[in-house]
Formats: sequence, C-alpha cells, structure tokens
Amino acid sequence: MKKALITGVTGQDGSYLAEFLLEKGYKVYGMRRRTSTPNYENVHAIKDQIEWLSGDLTDLASLMEAVRISQPDEVYNLAAQSYVAASWPQPLATGHMTALSVTNMLEAVRMMKPDAKYYQASSSEMFGKVQETPQKETTSFYPRSPYGVAKVYGHWITVNYRESFNMFACSGILFNHESPRRGHEFVTRKVTDAAARIKLGVQKELRIGNLDALRDWGFAGDYIKAMWLMLQQDEPDDYVISTGEMHSVRDLLEIAFSHVGLDYRDYIVMDPQFMRPAEVDLLLGDCSKAKQQLGWIPEVSFEQLIHMMVDEDLKRVKAEHRY
Ligand code: GDP
Repeated sequence: MKKALITGVTGQDGSYLAEFLLEKGYKVYGMRRRTSTPNYENVHAIKDQIEWLSGDLTDLASLMEAVRISQPDEVYNLAAQSYVAASWPQPLATGHMTALSVTNMLEAVRMMKPDAKYYQASSSEMFGKVQETPQKETTSFYPRSPYGVAKVYGHWITVNYRESFNMFACSGILFNHESPRRGHEFVTRKVTDAAARIKLGVQKELRIGNLDALRDWGFAGDYIKAMWLMLQQDEPDDYVISTGEMHSVRDLLEIAFSHVGLDYRDYIVMDPQFMRPAEVDLLLGDCSKAKQQLGWIPEVSFEQLIHMMVDEDLKRVKAEHRY
C-alpha cells in the first residue's frame, strides 16, 4: 500500500487530493496544525480514513516527526497562507508560511525520507505582471504581491533541492482553481455564494473590486489529478496546469447571476476595499507540456464550474435558512 503525506489536507485541494488517493488505495496521512477552532468541513466525509498527524509548517521538528512517522512514498506540500490580498497586511507571516516553510518541508524530507517524491504547490501568481501571454514553464516570473514573491521562493528552492540533492521534487504551477470548497474570500466563491444568497433573499448586495481582472479558472478536482500524475513520471519536472481559457470577473458575475435568473448589475457595489495595491491584470496558461507528457486535460468548463458552485451554494444556503 502506497503512503502519502499531505499538508493543507483540510483545504480545498488537500481534501480533493485525499479523496482521490484514498480511492486509489493509498494510506493518507494528513498533517494538521492545532487551532482552537478546527475546521473539517472539506474532509467531513473522509475524516476517519485519514491518519492525522499534528505539525506546523514553521516548526521543522514537527515536520521531521510527521515524515518519520508516516514514511511517505509521496509528499504533497499544499499548506500555505494562500490568499493574495491578505499578504499585504501580513507580509512576514506570508513569507514564513508560504516561502521559508517550503525549505522546512524539503529539509524534513531530505533528512527523514530522501527517496520520497515531493510535490510543491507553485502558483500562476508568480507570473504577476506577465512577461508573455500565454504563460508557460519558461515564462519569466514577475510577482506582484508578497504572496507571489513568497511562491517564487518556494518554486526555486524546490528546483534547487532537486538539483542539489537529486530529490524527486516537482513543482506544479497551477493557475486559479476553484470548486464548491473554495474559501469564501476568493472572488469565484464570493460571487457564487452572493448569487445564491441574493436569489434566496438573505443578502441584498455584493461589494466587489476590480471587474476587469482576467483569470484562467479551472476546477480543483481536475487539477489535483495533475499533481498525482507529476509524481508518477520517471523524472521530476515542473508543469503549468491551466485551462487555456481566460475570463473576466465581469464574465464570472454574468454567468453566476444569470444562472439564478438575476442581472448582476442590479446588485453589485464597487468597493475600493477590494482593490489591491498592485494588481495581476491577466493570467492565461499554456499547459501543452502537461497535456503531452502527463496526458492531463481539464474536464470541467468554466461555465460548468460556476454553475456547479452556484448550485452547491443554493443547497447550502437553503439548508442554513431551513427553506
Ligand atoms: P487570486 O488570483 O489568487 O488573487 O484570486 P482571487 O479570487 O482572490 O482574485 C482574482 C481576481 O479577482 C483578482 O484580480 C482580484 O483583484 C479580483 N477581484 C475583484 N473583486 C474581488 C473581490 O471582491 N474579492 C477578491 N478576492 N478578488 C476580487
């Protein structure tokens, strides 16, 4: 039985990946950080199938212990401070959790289980002020937020450990990926939840920022398969994972609200609080390498994704308000 260790297992990607690996017959170890208010919402259905280990990304000893106990064949490092907007008010915490912690995790693997295959969650935010379009593995990085800067560090330290210590370390440069499990602060979930709440009469308006931002949005359930595929190859490498389609925040609003028969223009309020000190205007990925070498393709279209999220939010909001 193969063993996998996942950090960030209670998050969106971690929960989909854990389900996928359990279905493949893996023993899944999930690392969790102690908090006073634990949140198992995303892993509710599989909570008892996960072997839980406690650890904190910023505490090397705890990571070494997690790797020592689990002796994983594969390590998926998904935990981070992952919300771009929060990285300006908390630049140092973001640096510790999103950048330096990657070295902690790589060191833990190098010392305790050097032959484990390692996946690093890199991000399209590294492209920031894009130097070419579409963006691919060879495109130069130009991060535009403390989060993006931290992810560039995580990316290069992963490449460096591969080259320095011959570790099987891969970095997946994933473009935005969403699902009904996406955190509520991200724009997709914020919009689909608002469409549901406004439709059901429990919210009046949606306060929002830059409507012109363009993103390459895919489905998280598709993207975690690419993570696994990267670790099944003969050689470690880095891959862009994206849909190759770009939409604006305005398109997102249009699709979500029209799905419930509403016109978004009647409900949005522009709020400068949601504008960013430096914006990433557009992201569009070219995932030809992943298609050719991994045989990976995205299966859920943007429209299907947004409909799926609105439908789930409708169900949840109805249940909350006992419709
Ligand atoms: P990101 O690409 O990782 O920053 O993902 P987000 O979902 O947080 O933001 C995507 C884009 O939507 C960014 O360009 C934001 O500036 C834009 N956006 C516009 N209004 C909002 C909002 O109210 N919340 C968030 N999170 N993003 C917004």
